[in-house]
Amino acid sequence: MGYVKGLKCKECKREFPKEPIHVCEFCFGPLEVDYDYEAIGKKVTRESIQAGPPSMWRYKEFMPLDEDNKVGHHVGFTPLVRAKNLGKALGLNNLYVKNDSVNHPTFSFKDRVVAVAVSKAIEFGFDTISCASTGNLANSVAAHSAEAGLKSCIFIPDGLEAGKILGTMIYGAQLIAVNGAYDDVNRLCSEIGAHHKWAFVNINIRPYYGDGSKSYGYEIAEQLGWKTPDNVIVPVAGSSLITKIWKAFHEFEMLGLLDGKVQSKIFAAQATGCSPVTTAIKNGTDVITPVKPNTIAKSIAIGNPADGYYGVKTTKESGGYGEDINDEEIVKAMKLLAETEGIFTETAGGVTVGVTKKLVEQGRIKPDETTVICITGNGLKTVEALSGQYADPVVIEPKLNSFEEIYSNSVTA
Ligand SMILES: *Cc1c(COP(=O)(O)O)cnc(C)c1O
Ligand SMILES: [Zn+2]
Repeated sequence: MGYVKGLKCKECKREFPKEPIHVCEFCFGPLEVDYDYEAIGKKVTRESIQAGPPSMWRYKEFMPLDEDNKVGHHVGFTPLVRAKNLGKALGLNNLYVKNDSVNHPTFSFKDRVVAVAVSKAIEFGFDTISCASTGNLANSVAAHSAEAGLKSCIFIPDGLEAGKILGTMIYGAQLIAVNGAYDDVNRLCSEIGAHHKWAFVNINIRPYYGDGSKSYGYEIAEQLGWKTPDNVIVPVAGSSLITKIWKAFHEFEMLGLLDGKVQSKIFAAQATGCSPVTTAIKNGTDVITPVKPNTIAKSIAIGNPADGYYGVKTTKESGGYGEDINDEEIVKAMKLLAETEGIFTETAGGVTVGVTKKLVEQGRIKPDETTVICITGNGLKTVEALSGQYADPVVIEPKLNSFEEIYSNSVTA
């Protein structure tokens, strides 16, 4: 297999060989993977995809690997849930939730990008995997490095949730908390990269890493019956996922795998306490003004997003928009999804649900349109966000009357 011709600068279109590099040395534009679409088109059909495994590797021809994937065989193909109850609450008659809170193995969409990045790092011959992470990436890099039998050294901002920290350490990773925000961590990692020949999944491996996210988009289209939805609401941190969903839809269109054309509007969702991308969209500019994050949605708290410019561009090109909600609204939206659909998402999922509500109220999303909300992470990893929301459960004696007392009390209360 292998349909990758090389890398290409997204701006000046200069070509580069397949190497662990991510920036154009001429114009400093980001590099992206250049595929041989003609060859992919000869090989891939709806039937060939459907005959593939129930994982992201059913789209392996669209992934930037030269060999079969080395790790993450069960990543992806998560449920696209028909969300009738949530739809009723929001006033949407054709609502779906793409649920990566149950992605294997670390319960976030990051398993998609990491399965690709670690497989690519192995192709390149690296023995240590690293990253700058807001939490979910740390979990996934640690897990997939363990699976590969490689060392991992992972950097996070200080003050992340306990579940994200323990959920990294359990895999035997070396975890380092940096006194600063994500953007400080990222800068430090670039410096460390000059001294250590490591695979930093979201820095020197970034062009390959990002394309793992395309699988999320392919799955939405396939699971809707080879159609793209009218609206997709995407949580935005570095702006990788949002651009790759858009790219995925267009690759499927280009290869004739879709019914009809892509007419999806892509909406960016951020927390008000870290909203450089949605602020730019609202201000009608593609210039991102970096911010200092202050929100409970830590997994998407990137103040200076690497692909922010392209995130804005995606929403604009598609006819979408961007919105943000505050921390209180995030918690409300997490509860709403849980109470209506039985899905416990993390703070980032609260952001997309709450932003969807806002977009419906603004009339930007119409009741009968097909809408997909991206749920990208699991609520059990961010329980701190809900602290003080619920009283401790009532404790009773193991006796029937003890129960009846409480039960009738609570009913009449
Ligand atoms: C990383 C992350 C995102 C967004 O990632 P991008 O950097 O924009 O690709 C969204 N949701 C969750 C839960 C994440 O961990
Ligand atoms: Zn260039």
